[in-house]
Amino acid sequence: MTETLHIIGGGMAGSEAAWQAAQAGVPVVIHEMRPQVGTFAHKTGHLAEMVCSNSFRSDDDEQNAVGLLHWEMRAAGGLIMEMADKHRLPAGGALAVDRDPFAEAVTDRLLSHPLIRVEAGEIDTLPSEGKWIIATGPLTSEGLGKAIQAETGTDALAFFDAIAPILYADSIDMGVAWLQSRYDKGETEEEQKAYLNCPMTRDQYEAFIDALLAAEKTEFHEGETAGYFDGCLPIEVMAERGRETLRHGPMKPVGLTNTHKPEEKAYAVVQLRRDNALGTLYNIVGFQTKMKYGAQTEVLRMIPGLENARFARLGGIHRNTFINSPTLLDDQMRLKSRPHIRFAGQITGVEGYVESAAMGLLAGRLAAAEILGTPVAPVPQQTAMGALIHHITGGAEAKTFQPMNVNFGLFPPLEGVRGGRRGRKDRYKGYTDRAKELWTAWLEGQPQEAAE
Ligand SMILES: Cc1cc2nc3c(=O)[nH]c(=O)nc-3n(C[C@H](O)[C@H](O)[C@H](O)COP(=O)(O)OP(=O)(O)OC[C@H]3O[C@@H](n4cnc5c(N)ncnc54)[C@H](O)[C@@H]3O)c2cc1C
Repeated sequence: MTETLHIIGGGMAGSEAAWQAAQAGVPVVIHEMRPQVGTFAHKTGHLAEMVCSNSFRSDDDEQNAVGLLHWEMRAAGGLIMEMADKHRLPAGGALAVDRDPFAEAVTDRLLSHPLIRVEAGEIDTLPSEGKWIIATGPLTSEGLGKAIQAETGTDALAFFDAIAPILYADSIDMGVAWLQSRYDKGETEEEQKAYLNCPMTRDQYEAFIDALLAAEKTEFHEGETAGYFDGCLPIEVMAERGRETLRHGPMKPVGLTNTHKPEEKAYAVVQLRRDNALGTLYNIVGFQTKMKYGAQTEVLRMIPGLENARFARLGGIHRNTFINSPTLLDDQMRLKSRPHIRFAGQITGVEGYVESAAMGLLAGRLAAAEILGTPVAPVPQQTAMGALIHHITGGAEAKTFQPMNVNFGLFPPLEGVRGGRRGRKDRYKGYTDRAKELWTAWLEGQPQEAAE
């Protein structure tokens, strides 16, 4: 008898994980708490409910990383993509979905699969034996959240994200910014130059504060509480408390000398810190914000050196349960301290319907392979799937780990292609061509060396 795989949570990730494992021949039980126990965002008892927007974002698999993820999931026989395609609504280049028929169709498909069973009810303890995937998402129930926290430690499970904007390193103007840690702190040269600094004059600072105060902000969703206020105030809230607050907080200019203009003392300094091991992404330190996306790019591009910044992800603060995956999970998405439990979906620190379903797809396949005794090769980091799993299980900075969307900054750079804005089209096509070839080979069980 093939061992049963248990999945807690039948959302985007749990549904896809169940489908993949069952298609591989493994019996699956999905434990879903809805409709008995609800969340503030879910409205139905359907599996794979889309809680807010009805968009799977860009469907462009040549120029966009999320479009590439769609392509990879389709190539892997993904249920979420198949049903999204079937219930597609007109939306230009984006994949918009008719949410209720979509969720009903996913539910029907899973319920009619001979190897899948759904057990209704909340699970609020960590299972001690068997094979499990926890895919309980950003709104994991309180009981299970506490059980996870008891296992991982308080600091390794967050109930809110506080995302500072992340931008591509090659879009920062190094003629303006310079590398230096405050007071040159650190043992090695690398540590002494761990930050990128963007200087502001008094006029620039005053204009920045005006724009920040005037910018449109998003409201919390109904049911979300403002628990974020403890340790990570949004920059606009700091600015509201006083025009000088930021200059004494994340924008303080002390301990820094502008290498381009050593004689000039900056009035304020914005610092950026490396966000991934590849060094392709930087986050703006302490700049979590609830500014709307359009306003955010406008305001942030006022920072000297960031006039042409390209953003891998914009800032935000949400109710969001997620674990510190880079320290807790191994490269097979297993909890290091209890390897019979995998994590999948948004709780692993990816963000969005598509990314969550993608991590469900991988977790389902990896769990099934383990149960069936047919090990699989590591997923190539040059694919969208591989870039994401690599980021959450080791590539991201664990200390500042915050949820991440898929983006080309997570991919190992291509050799011999033009950098910057001008080379973007060819570069992105290069990334997606390389990914498709490697993903196809991985699915066929023939891992290949990356073709640069
Ligand atoms: C308010 C809000 C708005 C969002 N808006 C968007 C958006 O517009 N676009 C976007 O791409 N993403 C959005 N997200 C993120 C989105 O929720 C996720 O990307 C996606 O749904 C995550 O998939 P998942 O499978 O990890 O979690 P979910 O889809 O949330 O699925 C988790 C499932 O686990 C169940 N569950 C939880 N705890 C237990 C338990 N103890 N026992 C049994 N079952 C349990 C839940 O009922 C749920 O069905 C939003 C999130 C929130 C909270």
